[in-house]
Parts: sequence; structure tokens; C-alpha cells
Amino acid sequence: MTKTAIVTGGSRGIGRATAIEFSKMGMNVAIIYCGNQAKAEETVAACKENGVDAIAIKCDVKNKADVEVAVENVRETFGSVDVLVNNAGITKDGLLLRMSEEDFDAVIDTNLKGCFLMSKACSAIMMKQRSGKIINIASIVGIQGNAGQANYAASKAGIIGFTKSLAKELGSRGITVNAVAPGFVETDMTDVLSDKVKEALMNLIPLKRTAKPEDIAGTIGFLASEKADYITGQVLTVDGGMCM
Ligand code: NAP
Repeated sequence: MTKTAIVTGGSRGIGRATAIEFSKMGMNVAIIYCGNQAKAEETVAACKENGVDAIAIKCDVKNKADVEVAVENVRETFGSVDVLVNNAGITKDGLLLRMSEEDFDAVIDTNLKGCFLMSKACSAIMMKQRSGKIINIASIVGIQGNAGQANYAASKAGIIGFTKSLAKELGSRGITVNAVAPGFVETDMTDVLSDKVKEALMNLIPLKRTAKPEDIAGTIGFLASEKADYITGQVLTVDGGMCM
């Protein structure tokens, strides 16, 4: 039977590359986006070119009602939820003393609470199926920390603890839960960085190149495949050797 994957933040960047990777693997894909419908439809079209079915669903991952409706929509449309990639994420950088409560909450709510709400809704379906794969997109910043990103680092470190806890909780139901921690990936999120910051980051990468979204999507595809059936609770860094 054709498997179904949900990719949050599938309209752009790493999420888009992941949705396309899944379509190449023969999975139907539900792309969750927040505001960028045109970009989400582009991803849908790219997935369909690979001969699978794909839909775009507008859903704010930090909103419980939105999440429940979206996941039910996917189950009704495709009949199962086999893979969930919690990829939607934002940054609102600033040094601690200048960081507003709103910016702290926005990042934690989107990156961490969104991951919680999506995992809760999907795991209910996966538990009944007695199978499923949840892949959470963390960051090496969640392992190393980063000045100016206390909110983002906390959300990503939270995702790592959340991943390991779910792996222990859901393992007996045939569900694996892993995290991928990318380094510096060329997307809209990093496009806003100054050339000076980009150069400083580049100097920290042993492979001497930044990642393309496809570099991360390949690892996510592996974790979503049967080849990774015996891997759970792990954090795979995909960062050109930046964090070791
Ligand atoms: P991106 O290009 O900025 O795309 C972000 C995606 O998240 C978009 O599809 C956006 O949807 C979606 N999104 C944002 N808020 C949402 C919400 N409340 N509900 C639903 N969707 C929402 O980001 P990216 O660089 O691909 O990053 C993807 C993930 O990788 C993030 O979790 C990020 O923290 C992580 N990561 C990125 C890097 C990097 O160097 N780029 C490094 C480490 C980790 P719309 O298009 O509708 O706005």
C-alpha cells in the first residue's frame, strides 16, 4: 500500500526538498504551510511530477484546532499517516536582554509546541496502525547553543529531549522517533544573514561548503525508509562536520 507522509513547513527550504524526496520514494505527501500558498502549491506540483498524490494544507502548527483538522484531513484523504516530519520552524534572533517575551514565545510555540501538537495528533493514528516514523528537525544550535539565539536553541534542545522521550514511549507500538540536526543550510532562513556571518560560519565547516536542502532531505528520506527500521531516539547531525 502507498505510504503517506506529512511534512510541516513543506512550502519552502528543507521541507520542500523533503516532500520531493518522499515523492521520489513513492509516498503520497501532505504539505503543511502557514501563509505561503503559492509556494506550497509549487511543492505539490513538484511531488505530483513523480507520480504520487500530494496536497497542501494551510495549518498553523502552534494552533491545536488547526493541527487536529489538518491531520484528520490527511487521514481521510489518504487513509493513513505513516511518516511525520516536524520541520516547520522560525527564528527571532536577539541577545537575551533585548529579546522580547513575544519573540521568545513565538519561537518556542512554533518550533517546540508545534512539534508536540503534530506528534500527538499523528501518533494517535500511528499507534492504531502499530507503525510509523516521526522525524523532528532540530539544529546543531540545540546541541551547541548560539549567542543571540537563546529562544531558538532552547526550542531545538527541547526537540531533542522530546524526541528521545517519544522514542521510549512509542517504541513498543512500532513507531520510531528520531531527530535530524542540520548545520548551515541555504534557505530563506539563512539568506537573511550578513556576508560576514556567512563567511564566519563557512570557516567552521570542515567540508568547506554549506548544505543544500537536498543534503538534509536525503537523511530524512533514509530515516523514513525501511533501512532505518532499527534506529530510534537518535539525533543525526548533517552539518559537514561543523559540530563534532
Ligand atoms: P524556511 O525556508 O524559512 O521555511 C520555513 C517553513 O516553515 C516554511 O514552509 C513555513 O511556511 C513553515 N512555517 C513557519 N511557521 C509555521 C507555522 N506556524 N505553521 C506551519 N508552518 C510554518 O526554513 P528552513 O531553513 O527550510 O528550515 C526548516 C527547519 O530546519 C526549521 O525547523 C529550522 O529551524 C531547521 N534548521 C534550518 C537550518 C538552516 O540553516 N536553514 C539549520 C538547522 C535547522 P510558509 O512558507 O507558509 O511561511
